[in-house]
Amino acid sequence: MTLGRIALARIPATRGTIHRLFSTTLSSSSTNRTSPPLSRHMSMKSDNLVSKLTSSGLLKTQGLIDGKWVDAHDGDTIKVLNPATGEVVANVPCMGQSETNDAISSAYDAFRCKKLHTEPTVQFSKMLASMPSEGNDTWMSPLQYDLLISHKEELGQLITLEQGKPLKEAMGEVIYGASFIEFYAEEAKRVYGDIIPATLGDRRLFVLKQQSHEFLQPVGVVGAITPWNFPLAMITRKVGPALACGCTVIVKPSELTPLTALAAAELALQAGIPPGVLNVVMGKASDIGDALLASPEVRKITFTGSTAVGKKLMAGAAGTVKRLSLELGGNAPCIVFDDADLDVAVKGSLAAKFRNSGQTCVCANRIIVQEGIYDKFADAFSKAVQSMQVGDGFSEGVMQGPLINEAAVQKVESFVEDAIFKGAKVLLGGKRHSLGMTFYEPTVISDVTEAMLLSRQTKLEVLVSDWGLIQVYNGACCGLHFLFRSLKYFGLHSVDISSISFWEEVFGPVAPLLRFKTEEEAILMANNTKAGLAAYIFTNNVQRSWRVTEALEYGLVGVNEGLISTEVAPFGGLKQSGLGREGSKYGMDEYLEMIYLLYPDEICLLRRHEQKMRFKVCYQFAAHNHKVIWIAESVQSRPFEYEA
Ligand code: ADP
Repeated sequence: MTLGRIALARIPATRGTIHRLFSTTLSSSSTNRTSPPLSRHMSMKSDNLVSKLTSSGLLKTQGLIDGKWVDAHDGDTIKVLNPATGEVVANVPCMGQSETNDAISSAYDAFRCKKLHTEPTVQFSKMLASMPSEGNDTWMSPLQYDLLISHKEELGQLITLEQGKPLKEAMGEVIYGASFIEFYAEEAKRVYGDIIPATLGDRRLFVLKQQSHEFLQPVGVVGAITPWNFPLAMITRKVGPALACGCTVIVKPSELTPLTALAAAELALQAGIPPGVLNVVMGKASDIGDALLASPEVRKITFTGSTAVGKKLMAGAAGTVKRLSLELGGNAPCIVFDDADLDVAVKGSLAAKFRNSGQTCVCANRIIVQEGIYDKFADAFSKAVQSMQVGDGFSEGVMQGPLINEAAVQKVESFVEDAIFKGAKVLLGGKRHSLGMTFYEPTVISDVTEAMLLSRQTKLEVLVSDWGLIQVYNGACCGLHFLFRSLKYFGLHSVDISSISFWEEVFGPVAPLLRFKTEEEAILMANNTKAGLAAYIFTNNVQRSWRVTEALEYGLVGVNEGLISTEVAPFGGLKQSGLGREGSKYGMDEYLEMIYLLYPDEICLLRRHEQKMRFKVCYQFAAHNHKVIWIAESVQSRPFEYEA
């Protein structure tokens, strides 16, 4: 359908990515455009830090393919910036399709080498011997965990340098990230199959997650695409279970934060991970994504990021029927009931909202407060927010760092502007911080309604033409000023697009307070979204906590607590927040194949060998080098082995 000269396009998007949806293939220069325009040379202080990191061997500025550090084929690079200062921290390769294909080949070769034991005695045992966990069926080494922990400080500094979060929070991320490596190294020992009671008496039914008594049944080569908000933990949460199952991996970190990923890869090499098992490529995101999607050798894509890119990957994975895990945007409600403990509710909401300056997918996007406690909560919460120190993540006592880039700040500004235009009141903040750059004041806004972008209940649809006609649909009645700013931010002023609709997350340090009267109303408001990742409730009524939890359409619920992620619990969303789970024993299945096996109770084959006795298969069998070894037990005599 066209409207005059205008081609119709509906493009849903979330988080900080809308501008990228409208750009075609990223070139290195366009990649830089997503970052602040203000890139500067390093100050003495940063220079010293970078020199220290370089001499520790952890500041890697090349991709990792087949165990070798490599540049882009054409030598192209992208700049990595410190969001707090705009300084260029490093240049890393701007890779694309051909480097990704190299990484896929190396991961596939490494996988086949392990899976099929093509050279069982020499090559394969050498590979295992190089791993400290010799004899184990996994690529994991306990050393990887130890190395991450022992380099907590350097990794934390890298995270703060390229992502901006305060150093203490960054080191917390290292511990959290390392916990996935430790957990899955242990969990590999606990992958169980099943025995299913048969419907017919003369057969046995098994479910296997192992291809032999030694080796698990991995899905194969995995493409892991990760965001910038947790430069380490989002990688280890994927790579941990993948390696534990015996998969090989190509990691594509965000171009905004590749240095932490490269440092973690260096530590994996130091731990003895064989060439090709872990590869890291970065650069032109859609080219890399397309190469991963097109390859039949890549059997799974695991992704954390925006809903828009997640949908694109889901569609692209159909061509080769890949397995998918998607951890997409959230729109977390945080419900505070009249009967909540005020201090607990304030502390919990603060943690749920302001972690990483509001830049996580489980951040409380909507603080929904019951009318009886609303004013008291708004007052106490604003005081707590006011006490948070804003600044460069390396400064002592700082709790709120900068936003990731200029585009992120402009989005926050336009959301706040929309809320004010529609009648919300700014209790605190509401503007850029006097520190400049990408710092934004921690903000509390009251009287927010579901019509405002801040609570993401508004589906904004606009018509845009290249001669400037703009019309707003679906009651999203915003000021023209706001519209023009938004369109400029989304890069639409020169784009021939007729209709855009999007659901957005603020992804910044802005806490919107909404008011409700009844429990039913709170549940309706909380569930009135396409997302379903995390939710929080604050109440002292035990019955209510269970009732509300069960009514919420969310994958994770925290009761009287704002920080709920841990490696031992499943993380993942309902509805359009994604597919699959990460972390915990449930996260392991995402990287394992399951084989159903049926065989008769009596082994007829034995008759061919003129065995007269009846044998009953009792306890174990294994596939090894394409031969089946039946370990059978005679009902009359001792256990015996038969090779077919
Ligand atoms: P965010 O808003 O958190 O940046 P994105 O979905 O844009 O979320 O980015 C998450 C990850 O997905 C990043 O590593 C980014 O480079 C990558 N990415 C973005 N577009 C594509 C694409 N078309 N194909 C594959 N990966 C992509």
